[in-house]
Amino acid sequence: MLFTIQTLFFRFVQFLLKVGTFILPIRVPETFRGAGAAMQLCEAIAASGARTVLLVTDAMLVELGLVKPMQEKLEALGVRVVTYDGVKPDPTIAQIETGVDLYKGEGCEAILAVGGGSSIDAAKVIAARARNPHGVRWMAGLFRLLRSPAPLYAVPTTAGTGSEVTIAAVVSDPETVRKFAIMDFRLVPLMAALDGSLMTGVPPAITAATGMDALTHAVEAFISRNRTQATDADAREAVALIMAHLPRVMADGQDLEARSQMAVASYKAGLAFTKAGVGYVHAFAHNFGAHYHIPHGLANAILLPYVLEYSKPACTPRLAELARIAGVGEAGAGEGALADAFIAHIRDLNARFGIPAAVDKLQTGDIPVIAANARSEANWFYAVPRYMDRSTSEGFLRQLLAA
Ligand code: NAD
Repeated sequence: MLFTIQTLFFRFVQFLLKVGTFILPIRVPETFRGAGAAMQLCEAIAASGARTVLLVTDAMLVELGLVKPMQEKLEALGVRVVTYDGVKPDPTIAQIETGVDLYKGEGCEAILAVGGGSSIDAAKVIAARARNPHGVRWMAGLFRLLRSPAPLYAVPTTAGTGSEVTIAAVVSDPETVRKFAIMDFRLVPLMAALDGSLMTGVPPAITAATGMDALTHAVEAFISRNRTQATDADAREAVALIMAHLPRVMADGQDLEARSQMAVASYKAGLAFTKAGVGYVHAFAHNFGAHYHIPHGLANAILLPYVLEYSKPACTPRLAELARIAGVGEAGAGEGALADAFIAHIRDLNARFGIPAAVDKLQTGDIPVIAANARSEANWFYAVPRYMDRSTSEGFLRQLLAA
């Protein structure tokens, strides 16, 4: 009874949120695309008048030499670059605060994020903290920023999170063992460069996990009750691009055409989910990240077929449409069979990419707390096709225990 009342309440708030997505000025970043896009973005930053820029990245990307051309380009254009390479996967509040100190101490006027979702998210929160009086935890949730963040530009180096276009930044809090999102449409970067040539060196395991992350964004947006015609169009395009190009980049990481298409797919999936939202895959994955440090994309990939199986009774026609887009299932098959074929195809992709079907770090004793945290995350903000109550969510997690 309580569960039914709660679900009705969630649906009502979601209706208001959906109306909000048509009214709120959710910016889309100006994008530069293709090889050399990052250099064009540097020119645009210099033209903006910023004279000192904080470049937020991770040490691996500096070591790989990916950041240097951007540093040199900006310096050549008269922009001083202060590099902060202290971001680690799943950035923490402490890493963000170090970046804020550097931004303020060096008199920076803008931020350039170069990296995967971790670097872009850290840069978003540094930009927000630089202009707002409150701490990072205080900003958790929706529309908690009092003032606009510092000017922010993004160069994604993974094709996965879509953070370069989303309203969200995900932060890890080691004290509470949780990940939380800060969401505000002013966190969308002003400009982004989608440059597949920066992604040719991504190792296969990260390529697979991030690619499946982008697929998860598109699929969760497509089955969300808060989808719109526009988010459907972006999600369809993302799914088609990922189905065509993720196997190609897995076969040959140097395939520049496929890398470029994956960069566009990740961006389109980000566009879709920033309005339609995500669902239980993310609610559970964030907890696997916080508890066991399982990379976000990998956790999403493992969870996706299980969540779709659970959601299927409430979204069979949507899953059938995704099967048609992916080109799987028998010609003339009914919608139920097509939905099954789509879920089976995701399991096949996972197996081909070396993604396991269970979470070996998951402990039976952790299930109640992970289930509770996931249910509290998948609240009114996640317009999932089908909610889970306590026993369902705990039973759901038990399927993921390693044999
Ligand atoms: P990541 O940024 O954590 O990077 C993973 C690893 O890949 C790092 O070791 C990094 O050095 C390496 N890497 C990145 N680019 C590379 C390249 N071009 N070549 C070689 N190595 C490279 O991974 P991610 O999956 O992009 O981001 C995950 C984070 O993003 C998580 O914290 C997740 O919660 C968050 N996220 C945010 C959003 C959002 O909308 N803001 C959406 C989804 C996920």
